Amino acid sequence: MVEKDRPGGVCLNIGCIPSKALIHEASLFAGIPELEAMGLAVDRSRFDYAAVFRKSRTAADRLSRGVQGLLAKNKVELIVGTGRVAGPGRVSVDASRTLSTKNVLLATGSRSKDIPGFAVDETRVLSSTGLLMMQQLPKSILILGAGAIGVEFAYVMNAFGVEVHLVEMMPEILPTEDAEVVAVLRRELRRRGSRSRLPRRPDP
Ligand SMILES: Cc1cc2nc3c(=O)[nH]c(=O)nc-3n(C[C@H](O)[C@H](O)[C@H](O)COP(=O)(O)OP(=O)(O)OC[C@H]3O[C@@H](n4cnc5c(N)ncnc54)[C@H](O)[C@@H]3O)c2cc1C
Repeated sequence: MVEKDRPGGVCLNIGCIPSKALIHEASLFAGIPELEAMGLAVDRSRFDYAAVFRKSRTAADRLSRGVQGLLAKNKVELIVGTGRVAGPGRVSVDASRTLSTKNVLLATGSRSKDIPGFAVDETRVLSSTGLLMMQQLPKSILILGAGAIGVEFAYVMNAFGVEVHLVEMMPEILPTEDAEVVAVLRRELRRRGSRSRLPRRPDP
């Protein structure tokens, strides 16, 4: 297996796993009022979002090391470098090594899309990776796109007290999901204070 970065791809390193870790932390934080209702006192003055960030990285790092361990245990050779199909049955790695093989599986993933007018600088305009790597909470955030990732980040940011504006070009958030579930989720996000901007629905 040729991999230019860490094994596990986006999902493990900068996708599913760290985002689910953030969601878990966010739901614990959002549950504080319920603890207080039971008489427990929580000192929020020592809350440090950098610690939340570190926990999400720990989860990703642990699983990535786990994948490396599994590859080694199952005798899959991990070759670190950028692979390129150099010709039939030939894959070069960083132009320093050429592998001969009968079959090649290309599993190189995808890149995030550039949106005109929103050049990602990871400072003001963040990609999902930039948001996952953020160590300080902003006061407010506008999230472009209310698909699964946008809605997950809206939930996380809102739970930690960030003012969230969610913008979606389709008539509904999570446009490919079940309408009844989406309606519940939309109500819940609104109840928690997230604002969503959707195109006007056509009159029935
Ligand atoms: C924030 C976020 C949250 C997500 N949450 C979920 C979720 O909850 N559930 C879910 O199902 N999906 C989720 N996804 C989507 C999921 O991460 C992707 O669908 C999945 O990672 C795609 O896997 P892949 O193997 O196709 O590509 P990738 O994960 O992108 O893996 C491709 C790998 O190929 C390597 N590579 C590329 N080119 C070369 C080369 N020339 N030589 C060597 N190596 C190369 C890359 O370094 C990378 O490791 C999420 C994505 C994001 C961004």
